[in-house]
Amino acid sequence: MPGRPARGSQSVRNLFAVILAVAGVTAVFCAAPGPPRSAVLFIGDGMGPAYVTATRVARGGSSGRLRMDGLPHTALSRTHSTDSPVTDSAAAASAMACGQKTANGILCEDATAVYRKRDGRKLESIAVWAKKRGLRVGLVTTTTVTHATPAAFYAHEKDRDNEAGIARQAVASGFDFLLGGGRKFFPEDMQAEARAAGWTIVETADALRAVPGLDRRILGLFSDGHLPYQPEIEAARARAGGEGAAGHGVAGAGGGTDQGGMGDPAGDTVGGPAARSAPTIVEMTRWAIDGLRQTGQPFFLMVEGGRIDHAGHGNWARTAVDETAAFDEAIGYAVDTLDPKTALVLVTADHETGGLALNGYPDEKDGIWSAYRDPWGEKGDEPYPVVTFSSGPGTKRQTRRPPHGADDPRPSALSLGSAAHTGTDVALYAWGAGAERVHGTVENTTIYTILREHLEGKTRGR
Ligand SMILES: [Zn+2]
Repeated sequence: MPGRPARGSQSVRNLFAVILAVAGVTAVFCAAPGPPRSAVLFIGDGMGPAYVTATRVARGGSSGRLRMDGLPHTALSRTHSTDSPVTDSAAAASAMACGQKTANGILCEDATAVYRKRDGRKLESIAVWAKKRGLRVGLVTTTTVTHATPAAFYAHEKDRDNEAGIARQAVASGFDFLLGGGRKFFPEDMQAEARAAGWTIVETADALRAVPGLDRRILGLFSDGHLPYQPEIEAARARAGGEGAAGHGVAGAGGGTDQGGMGDPAGDTVGGPAARSAPTIVEMTRWAIDGLRQTGQPFFLMVEGGRIDHAGHGNWARTAVDETAAFDEAIGYAVDTLDPKTALVLVTADHETGGLALNGYPDEKDGIWSAYRDPWGEKGDEPYPVVTFSSGPGTKRQTRRPPHGADDPRPSALSLGSAAHTGTDVALYAWGAGAERVHGTVENTTIYTILREHLEGKTRGR
């Protein structure tokens, strides 16, 4: 009967009102959204503890202080993969990105995957998880954007070297930006596909600077292969600026080919036009953080100092220090600009490369690039370099011209064409909201858990 609701339906409406009110109150107290949480994960590829020490001493003396030295919370991170005590970048990045250990060579699939033979169960990376929840997501690297470390955040692959296939998954990621090298893995038809999917492709530092904001997806492909090394970019800019004082003895248009492979060989020395036009890791990180902050939305950002590892594979100690110092400066920008009440910054390495060591007892004034003669050494002991590697091409098997020329390579004990990774623990540093969660000795998979709990609002803000 219209106009005369039965008593029953009135009660039902009242009941609904009560349920809605209770649900509303519950939502307010349980979800406790608070201010939006953001996180930045910095991964220094190959940056074992000795790389940090060498960079500190080379740049500021033994009592110098890197930006990462100033991060208040630290832990040791265990890097082993499921099939080896010595990980490669794919397994290590997958552990951090996807929260589960897997086998060497595998990207974001579980340990049932067999390298190059069989896919495993697909895992969901923290970046994909964040994207699904409406966070802004971006990746920055100095390698190809399809290289193992960035790829673990968006791709599933039983073979990390399938960079052409990974490029397709990059386009499908729907992230807000991917910045790095690897143009050769995005042929014209794939670039057209990317544009159709909403990506704007930028190829130079100038073009990146001209991007007005993050209202469109940005695919930065600043080089055919990896980005040039930091000293190559600096030298090219110094030459272009007419200062004529590059001082690095950098090779011109470098040759060499990418060699891919699980051993992560040094890859190409790019040189040439990319050295003049590519952005540095600091410039990419500034662009990323400024753009993300402008959106006012929560975000997840991963920044990889990817060529620290490549310098390590070549036993190029000075270049490794330059790469680590630039990576450190990028960390400094994050810490200087982000709000520690809402943002968490983690800094770590995926593994150590080459067994970098600081030997002997050089005088402080002589620094680490000296050779040390032990006045109390045994008869027949020769002066020895303070910096050496445990494996790699050393000073005798160099096949590429390193950025610092003959000053770059240090000797290695075990002669290999490309240095091996080592299984040592690496440092994990933390700053900002939830940083106190970082302590003790952890598995690298814990990095995923810490990021996830922070972004979900489960850790305490400050
Ligand atoms: Zn490597």
